Amino acid sequence: MTSTPPRGLYYAGDWHETAAARQIVCPADGSPVAAVAECTAEDAASAVTAARHAFDEGTWSTTPERGRGELLLRVADLLERDTALYAKAESLDTGKRLVESRYDLADIVGCFRYYGGIAGTDAGRVVDTGRTDAISRIVHAPVGVCALITPWNYPLLQVAWKVAPALLAGNTFVLKPSELTPGTAVLLMDTLAEAGLPAGVGNLVTGTGPEVGVVLTTDPRVDLVSFTGGLETGKSIMAAAAPTVKRVALELGGINPNVVFADADREAAVDMALTAVFLHSGQVCSAGARLLVQDSIAEAFVDELVARAQQIRMGGPFDEAAETGPLISAAHRDKVHAYVEAAVAEGAVLRCGGEIPTDPALAEGYFYPPTVLDGCQAAMGCVQQESFGPVLTVETFADEAEAVRLANGTPFGLAGAVWTADAGRAQRVAGALRLGTVWINDYHPYVPQAEWGGFGQSGNGRELGPGGLAEYRETKHIWHNIAPAPQRWFSS
Ligand code: NDP
Repeated sequence: MTSTPPRGLYYAGDWHETAAARQIVCPADGSPVAAVAECTAEDAASAVTAARHAFDEGTWSTTPERGRGELLLRVADLLERDTALYAKAESLDTGKRLVESRYDLADIVGCFRYYGGIAGTDAGRVVDTGRTDAISRIVHAPVGVCALITPWNYPLLQVAWKVAPALLAGNTFVLKPSELTPGTAVLLMDTLAEAGLPAGVGNLVTGTGPEVGVVLTTDPRVDLVSFTGGLETGKSIMAAAAPTVKRVALELGGINPNVVFADADREAAVDMALTAVFLHSGQVCSAGARLLVQDSIAEAFVDELVARAQQIRMGGPFDEAAETGPLISAAHRDKVHAYVEAAVAEGAVLRCGGEIPTDPALAEGYFYPPTVLDGCQAAMGCVQQESFGPVLTVETFADEAEAVRLANGTPFGLAGAVWTADAGRAQRVAGALRLGTVWINDYHPYVPQAEWGGFGQSGNGRELGPGGLAEYRETKHIWHNIAPAPQRWFSS
C-alpha cells in the first residue's frame, strides 16, 4: 500500500509535495487528525507565480461574470453534497461540535449561492457626459492576484467569505489558512477543481504566517491582501503591504458590547447574553464579551446568567450531550486563563468559571469553562482587550447616555447589541453605537446579503454583501469619443 504525501501545497492545478509536514491535532483530546504540508517561502512564491500567470495569461478574468457565477453555484452544490465530509474535517481541526460545523457548512453554501446568484446583476453604469459625441462608462475590473489569509475559529466560513467574491470578480488567489486548521481548505481545492475552476486560479499554501504569510503580503506580484485575524497581525500585514501599495482589507477582533436596558424581555436577554459570549467557547470575533446592564436590574440579571453559565456542558465534537467545545490550543487556553487572572488582580469579581477543568474526561483537551467577571469598570484591561475565549465582563450603567458612552469606549467597533422594549430607544442607541453591525433584541444572526466588518481598530473594508464584492473590484472609467476631432488647445 502506498501512502499519500501530506497535502497542502496546491498550485497550477496540481498538488505538490513539500519537504516537511505538520501534524494537526484535535483540540478536544489532542489526538492526531492528519499530516499537512508545511510550506516554505519558496513554495508560497511558486503559488504566487501560478496565480499571477493564470491572471495575466488565463481566461478567468475575462470570462463573463455570469459564467463565473455558475461555477460558484456548482461549488455550492458540491459543498452541500459533501457536507458530512467537510463538517467532520472542520470539527476534528477545531474541536467544535459536529452540529455547529454543519451549521457552518450551511452558511458556507449560502455564501457561494449568494455570490453565484448576483453574478451579472451589476455591470457598472453609464455616465451622462453632457455631450453627444462621447460615451462614458464605469465598469468593474478584477484587482488581480489576491492573498487570502484566514484564522482558525471558523476556518472554511472565513475562506468562503473571501474566495466566493474574489472569484466572482475575476481574480486569482493564493489562500493561506491558519496552520492549526487547514483541513477544509485542502478539501476545498478538490471541490473547486471538480466544479471546473481553471488551473492556477485557486491556489493553496499551508504553513505559518511568518514563513508563507509574509511572502504573500510582500510579494510585488500580489495586488490585494484580505486578512482575518488578530489586531497585531493585522497591523504588521498593513505595514508589510505598504511598500508595494497593495489593497488591504482587514477583519480584526473586538470586545463587543451587549447592552441590556431594564425594560428588555428578561428571559430572552439572559438567554441570548449566554449565546452571545459562550457560542464556540467565545472564539467568535463578534462575541458579546462585554455585558452592559442597567443598574436597576443588574443584580438579578447577572445572578440568573451565572446560574445558567454554570450548567453549560463542555465536550468534544462527537459528544451529543455537549453544548460547547474546547479552545483551539493549549497556548490559547493559557492566554485566556492569564486574561482572567489579570482581570481578577485588577478588581473584577469572579462569579463562575476561571479554572482549568479537572474533570478527567476533559483532561486531554484544551477546555475552559464559561467565566463571568462581575464588577468591571471601563478602564480595566479586561474591558479594553478581547480574550477570544468564554469570558464575560459585566459593567452597569444608569441611563441611555451612559450606556452609549461606555459601549463606544474601546478602540474596537465590530458588532454589538441593544436590548429594550422601547423602539425609539432601540433605534437611537443603534444609531449612536460605533459598530459595523448592531443587533436589536437579538445577537449573532448575519446573512450573506449584508455587509460585515468593523469600525476603528476592528478593521477596514467589508466582507459579504455588495460591499464584500467591491473589495475585489477595481473601478474603471472608460471614455469613448465617438467623433474625434482636433481641439486646438495648443495653437502651434
Ligand atoms: P492571527 O492573527 O494569529 O492569524 C490569522 C492568520 O494570519 C493565520 O493564518 C496566521 O498564520 C496568519 N499570520 C500570522 N502572522 C502573519 C504574518 N506576519 N503575515 C501574514 N500572515 C500571518 O489570528 P488567529 O488565527 O489567532 O485568529 C484569532 C484572531 O482573529 C482573534 O484575535 C479574532 O479577534 C480575530 N478574528 C476576527 C474576525 C473578524 O471577522 N473580524 C473573525 C475571526 C477572528 P498562522 O497559521 O501562523 O497562525
